[in-house]
Amino acid sequence: MQAGNFGPLRTFVEYAADEQKKRFLPDLLGGRKIMSLGMTEPDAGSAVTDLRTSATAKGEGYVVNGSKIFSTHSPEAALFLVYVRFGPGVGGIGSVLVERDAPGFTIGKASRFMNGEQWSQLYFENVFVPATNVLLGAGGFKKQIAGFNVERLGNAARSVALGRHAFNVARDYASTRKQFGRPLCEFQGLQWKFAEMAVKLDAAQLLLDRAVANAGHGLPDPYETAAAKLACNLAGFEVANDALQAMGGMGFSEESIVEYCVRRTRGWMIAGGSIEILKNRIAESVFERKFDQRPE
Ligand SMILES: Cc1cc2nc3c(=O)[nH]c(=O)nc-3n(C[C@H](O)[C@H](O)[C@H](O)COP(=O)(O)OP(=O)(O)OC[C@H]3O[C@@H](n4cnc5c(N)ncnc54)[C@H](O)[C@@H]3O)c2cc1C
Repeated sequence: MQAGNFGPLRTFVEYAADEQKKRFLPDLLGGRKIMSLGMTEPDAGSAVTDLRTSATAKGEGYVVNGSKIFSTHSPEAALFLVYVRFGPGVGGIGSVLVERDAPGFTIGKASRFMNGEQWSQLYFENVFVPATNVLLGAGGFKKQIAGFNVERLGNAARSVALGRHAFNVARDYASTRKQFGRPLCEFQGLQWKFAEMAVKLDAAQLLLDRAVANAGHGLPDPYETAAAKLACNLAGFEVANDALQAMGGMGFSEESIVEYCVRRTRGWMIAGGSIEILKNRIAESVFERKFDQRPE
């Protein structure tokens, strides 16, 4: 659902030329091919604008050199939306579409995140990208991130959904599992825990609904996106983790899907803007000023 709706595909649809949509969308929307996002680099994670992968004009296109890490689904992806640098500074950043079989493009060995998803390091050595495969030219970074905010809401929705699933499983378990001759739900220590979990999920869901409802069919507001993602990432992980605890050894076992919910929700606290970076963004709205994270 994420890869086919809210991931890089959504940014692509927002900015692609009609000809690009005709070429790539049928297979992507038909679920026959998958697109992966190449944004993060070995030396440009949270500081994404430090990215160095370059696109240098040559003939009817650009030559791309550099490397990316952590691109989810890269071992299987057919198409890559790659952030590149056409020139210096934030204003020099844009994005291109690179097809899997492009000469000079190498996909490294598959590694596995703790959540089970796979990624590979991507290597670009003089990869020729025709001008028809440029998504956003120099100056496109802000637009790229505006589109990425939809991906962030997809990430937030999955966090809160998996948190709620773990909650439901643990609630049913606590209703029937007996210790000391009574169901677990009759212990006040657990009742209070479940009350807190319920409120965390509801609060996060409402912030997500606000961001989505206010966006309508457009792109979501950056502050509302950051607030929703932060709340959903925290609620999803904390609730799934508490659900696991409430189920004891069964929660920690692969017999229950709750341990999977913990592993998946954990990753979304890092992916797509870590919870710390989201707080930085929220603080800028609170104080109505920028806080440069770089040394003078
Ligand atoms: C599950 C998962 C899926 C991902 N999928 C993709 C993908 O498809 N495509 C892609 O390009 N990338 C992807 N990523 C990479 C992701 O975007 C980066 O991991 C993320 O931006 C953080 O970068 P980093 O890992 O280099 O950590 P770093 O930037 O090195 O940060 C390390 C720690 O320091 C904190 N930190 C850094 N700067 C600050 C600051 N100024 N203030 C406070 N704290 C700070 C961070 O929050 C983090 O906790 C994925 C990551 C994960 C975990």
